Amino acid sequence: MTARRTTVEAKNRDAILERLTARRSAIAHSAEGLHGEAADAMEHRDLSDLYDVETVADVDVGVTLTLATRAERSVSTFDDAIARVADGDYGLCTTCGGKITQARLRALPATLRCIRCSRMASLTGSC
Ligand SMILES: [Zn+2]
Repeated sequence: MTARRTTVEAKNRDAILERLTARRSAIAHSAEGLHGEAADAMEHRDLSDLYDVETVADVDVGVTLTLATRAERSVSTFDDAIARVADGDYGLCTTCGGKITQARLRALPATLRCIRCSRMASLTGSC
């Protein structure tokens, strides 16, 4: 047996993967819904007033697309977290290599960093 460092016991791995996959799926579904909303809003725009450059509807579409983009980024972070589970690195801080607390992983299951490194990253702007 190798001395490979892991924080994820095999018995917990399936439960973690299930939780991450469910969250990822919900967020992906949300992103699809937001894209659909934006597409519908664009399709039903009132083009009768071409001089009304930016309407409330345009702003709403912009906000919706921003939310969709954020959701897609979140899906990507969940994909990375799922890969880390498979690699045995899930739960280890990508900056210092220390363990990420279970409370933090429950709150932010796709987090890459422990709280200390996360705070340092936000202070230095290297998020
Ligand atoms: Zn750390």
